[in-house]
Amino acid sequence: MNLQLIAHEDQAAHTDGLKTLAVANDADIAALAADQAFDGVERIELNFPKFTDGRAFSQALLLRRRFGFAGDIRATGDVLIDQLVQMARSGFTSAVLAQGVDPAAAERQFTRYAAFYQGDALQPQPHFARGADSTGATNEPGATAQIPSLPEPYASAIDLYAKPTPRFGEKLSEAIATLRQAAALGAMVQANSLGAEDMVMTHLINQHRLPISIFVLDTGALHVETLALLEQLKSQQAAHPNAPLTVYQPQQEAVVQFVAREGADAMRRSVDLRKACCALRKLEPLGRALAGQQGWITGLRREQSDARADVPLIDRSEIQRNGLTKFNPLAGWTWGDVWHYIAANNVLYNPLHDRFYPSIGCAPCTRAITQGEDFRAGRWWWESESAKECGLHVKAHSQDAPTSGRSPNEAAKEYGAHIRQPHSSRIAATSHKVTRPAT
Ligand code: SF4
Repeated sequence: MNLQLIAHEDQAAHTDGLKTLAVANDADIAALAADQAFDGVERIELNFPKFTDGRAFSQALLLRRRFGFAGDIRATGDVLIDQLVQMARSGFTSAVLAQGVDPAAAERQFTRYAAFYQGDALQPQPHFARGADSTGATNEPGATAQIPSLPEPYASAIDLYAKPTPRFGEKLSEAIATLRQAAALGAMVQANSLGAEDMVMTHLINQHRLPISIFVLDTGALHVETLALLEQLKSQQAAHPNAPLTVYQPQQEAVVQFVAREGADAMRRSVDLRKACCALRKLEPLGRALAGQQGWITGLRREQSDARADVPLIDRSEIQRNGLTKFNPLAGWTWGDVWHYIAANNVLYNPLHDRFYPSIGCAPCTRAITQGEDFRAGRWWWESESAKECGLHVKAHSQDAPTSGRSPNEAAKEYGAHIRQPHSSRIAATSHKVTRPAT
């Protein structure tokens, strides 16, 4: 473990005379570096004002990767056990735990995740590409020893994938027409998961100045690379007032309760617990993001999995349940089409795609794939294929209920959260209007 854990009450004993700079949570690291603010500094303190504010992760990553800071990076503030692995991966080397957090329990977190799969700020190579020492024991489900090595640990996703199909021009026109149809319907949002398809979609919305808002669900468990991309996306969207970006985070208390009761690795123990985690971190904020909307836009493509093989451009099957029309403008695009568009238009994308992560979700639940593996093989890889959805895109009549035993709302309620139906009040109003006798 390369993260020194300091109990809240012991922090005074750990100042050790190093030249220390405390950097504000909203400070611009690049501007500070340009001002030579880090010269001679031996420790930088980065603050987490609250559990759900992840900006210090991006700051640490920038300090390590872009500006080569080699001293101690210390996390302060609301430092909880749930965040520690991510902190170590972002480049933090010490952390002052929040009041009441037991250092022994925090240590156990690292015993569980001693061989983290993905690359990080201190060890950029993913686990499977680290040579001889990568074959050591790991407690990660789907341990890496049996995964064949790839020809190169790093490759440009553009070089690897950008290859349009012959009908690409038609598909592009179809996608733009679908987006225009969505915008014409009324209040409309795009769900941007920060994956390649969604970055393409946001680019199309921007380029055609469509009045479509963007939202991102920051689950509190995203990769540092994804968080860094989110910061870039925020800057990009600031220049596009027609497509404002809103970031939704889970209810902190519910997540804290879930982690305290079930443990940080609960999602590995059963499909029910995994889906409960998805209900709290994704579905509850999704309900808020979709409230008051006429519809939403996703990056679903038919090619992504068997479960998505019949995704339509416009899906009205959810209207009965939640009043929303779902638009999937890239339904017919191939992975090659997506990357062709990215390359041709210089679209921002997640660097994890250069490391064999075609489908990117939360850090504990996503790994790189290897040659011959299915597109979504790196998502919840310890589960059977049929369970692999988080509930965001469950078909209206699907057998794949978001939890096998409980509804997502029952699961969320158990930890103090409530998943709202986006349009329940509008559906009620509409049906009242329809059934009212003519006067
Ligand atoms: S993908 Fe994993 S970490 Fe993210 S919400 Fe679902 S179970 Fe939790």
